Amino acid sequence: MSDNEFIAGSRLYPLAESIEREESVFPLRSMRRLVCPVCGHENAHLGRPKFHEGDDSGEAGWGGRGDLVEVPVEGECVHNWSVCFGFHKGDVVSFVKVAVEVVEGNGMVYDLEDWLTARGEVDA
Ligand SMILES: [Zn+2]
Repeated sequence: MSDNEFIAGSRLYPLAESIEREESVFPLRSMRRLVCPVCGHENAHLGRPKFHEGDDSGEAGWGGRGDLVEVPVEGECVHNWSVCFGFHKGDVVSFVKVAVEVVEGNGMVYDLEDWLTARGEVDA
């Protein structure tokens, strides 16, 4: 993998878009749920984190030269995404990568952009 292959064709969101804004229901006030960055759904399931070697040459494919940690998340809505941390020479970059394929409960598969357009939720 090289250059921007990891993020190519994906929709990216700032990590803040995936962090619940309301006060936490958890015992510690600083804890916040991850929410779907696309629709805000609160329930999701974590997958096993993946480590992508960047080899100081962009091999992780996230657009930077260093390594990448990817935490897959499967939403109970219709969206799947990954919380990602790229790092290189002391800079840590966070972003959320959303899968471009949306599979609804009836088995219909949509392109994410088409799914958003159909709901009038496309932003710039
Ligand atoms: Zn969603």
